[in-house]
Amino acid sequence: MFINLWNEKNQKKHINILGNTQFDIDLGSRVYTSRLIGSIPDLVMHGGGNTSCKTYTKNIFNEKMEVICVKGSGWDLETIEAKGLPSIRLEPLLELRKLKKLSDENMVNLQRANLLDSQSPNPSVETLLHAFLPHKFVDHTHATPFLILANLPNYKKIVDEIFGSKLAVVPYIMPGFDLAKKAADIYDLHPDCEGLLLLNHGHFTWGRTAKESYERVIKQTNKVQKWINKNLKAKKYFQKKIKIEKKELSFLSTIRGDIEKHSKDYNFVPTFDIRNDKKISSFLLRKDLSILARRGVSSPDHVIRIKGNPLVLSKNFNEKEILIKLNNFRNEYNSYFKRNKKRFKNKLKMLNPNPNVIWAPGIGLIGIGGDKKSAALVADIAEQNMHVMHYGEALGGYYPIKEKDQFDIEYWSLEQAKIKKTNISLIRGKTVLITGAGGIIGRQIAKVFNSEGANVVLVDKDLKSLQETHKLMNSNSIILQSDLTDSTAPKLITNSCLQNFGGIDILISNAGYALESSILDLDITTLKESFELNFFAHFNLAKEVSKVFINQSVGGKILFNVSKQAVNPGKNFGSYGLPKATLMFLLKQLALELGEYNISVNGVNADKIRSGLLTPSMIKKRSQSRGIDENQYMTSNLLSKEVEAKHVAEGFLSLAISERTSAHVLTIDGGNIEASLR
Ligand code: ZN
Repeated sequence: MFINLWNEKNQKKHINILGNTQFDIDLGSRVYTSRLIGSIPDLVMHGGGNTSCKTYTKNIFNEKMEVICVKGSGWDLETIEAKGLPSIRLEPLLELRKLKKLSDENMVNLQRANLLDSQSPNPSVETLLHAFLPHKFVDHTHATPFLILANLPNYKKIVDEIFGSKLAVVPYIMPGFDLAKKAADIYDLHPDCEGLLLLNHGHFTWGRTAKESYERVIKQTNKVQKWINKNLKAKKYFQKKIKIEKKELSFLSTIRGDIEKHSKDYNFVPTFDIRNDKKISSFLLRKDLSILARRGVSSPDHVIRIKGNPLVLSKNFNEKEILIKLNNFRNEYNSYFKRNKKRFKNKLKMLNPNPNVIWAPGIGLIGIGGDKKSAALVADIAEQNMHVMHYGEALGGYYPIKEKDQFDIEYWSLEQAKIKKTNISLIRGKTVLITGAGGIIGRQIAKVFNSEGANVVLVDKDLKSLQETHKLMNSNSIILQSDLTDSTAPKLITNSCLQNFGGIDILISNAGYALESSILDLDITTLKESFELNFFAHFNLAKEVSKVFINQSVGGKILFNVSKQAVNPGKNFGSYGLPKATLMFLLKQLALELGEYNISVNGVNADKIRSGLLTPSMIKKRSQSRGIDENQYMTSNLLSKEVEAKHVAEGFLSLAISERTSAHVLTIDGGNIEASLR
């Protein structure tokens, strides 16, 4: 059940931010309850749902004018601010109701033309519905209980039973002008109603104050939830527990690789978000999965995120089945597109035909997106749809919109216009595994790749420094505390990459440690220890990651932090140089043997970078022994500029985007003519 979270003090806080005019009071309370609604995913999710209020403001001539403030596109109710609810002149919008037809483009244009601030985002496509309802505050949600009800065949009887005449029903029409008109007409016929059920779509309610409208959202949704609980109790809706064997995670890289291979035209690298709680695994035991998968989405705009249908794998799926089913899915999507595009005059651009959601018994529900954040968003909506289906089926049947309506939303002109805007990036959406990510160089590498749009998996032995790095990342990142010299580490790390992202695209094997000692003083145990981290850890992880790459069969990139020490020994750094020289040989050997799988292997030789390997005290000692100051020491190269960790990170980035480079070592030292290629 949903809890009423409204609180006078908190509402005041939101109003005080804006000021004390009536407009500020209305908009402040509107922001507050919008956020309350947005904070509960089962009410609205990821930009879904919208809210509005009608109020008065003054124009530049100090004339009073009536406006409606409606959620702008690109804003999420959970984090909305006043500027996310742009003000539009109300009167011209109300005029539109007289029209018989209005295209989406003209509607958007008219809404924009009547904005008070030309910089505002586009008002929601449901703006006219908000405007045509006569109430001051209007709330629209896609709450799970209402979605269950909105897709039941016997909705009429149930609405009568729960609400009597207090809730009117609006048939399914695609969001926009036609829906707004129809909803307003139905409201006019039922002036006593306190809410609308939009079939196959969601719920509207309203009030004289933000509080009244919000409380109706909660109250009406709870009424539906109560009815659902009561009626589910009477039925056995969970099947007997059959144990499904947990599937090998390597299947994920097979799925991901095949999708990536067939997404080249869309510049799309898939990232997975996998869910598998009790409810999901119980759903995945249903015998009618493939029938349910063909039904469609519970609310129209979900189709943009999760496509109309998920791909369903059988309980005993194997690699062969994965490849056949993915191929069939793409073929079916192709014919779905061809069948439906005929109805459109303008030329449509087919979207990526691969699935956005996979039901994989033994693994779970897989949401697929362009990076971790969007994959999680897909998984959230797919999970909600799964619940709506599951309970809907137990309560009379799940009957959402049909193929034609689904296609109309998926290929909506307003949505198609958005597609062209995405830029091409060679790194965006790639999953990059970075070791030594808590160190100075590792942190910079993580920063550079993450800001370019990559998902980053950050590995380090030291949790504190790892967390420091994590703080600098966006949500497309995870941390793994791991000792790379432990023989179980590589498998655990790659499994975590599979579980969290579906695969790996780039390994940056960076972790290292140097100990100062002359060869004569160096004992074999210390040298062996150095080899453990500076060579064997790289060797073991590169091997394990290569297995994932080969299974994905879309190539991959391995990048080692080699160090100039591999070719140009520094006095007393033998215990570091020996394994690093071996690492450089490994780089070449791997490049030779992995080339046939389209896996490139390269490295960076950096010199004189302030880091855990070159500490302030070492810099002091060395510059003194050379009789120069510290700055001179750090800038003694051809460019006379200090080389910083960020320059090393840029070197890794340039190797990561090089399509035709392998067995190469990039030197980053500000220029050193003796060390340059002869
Ligand atoms: Zn909606």
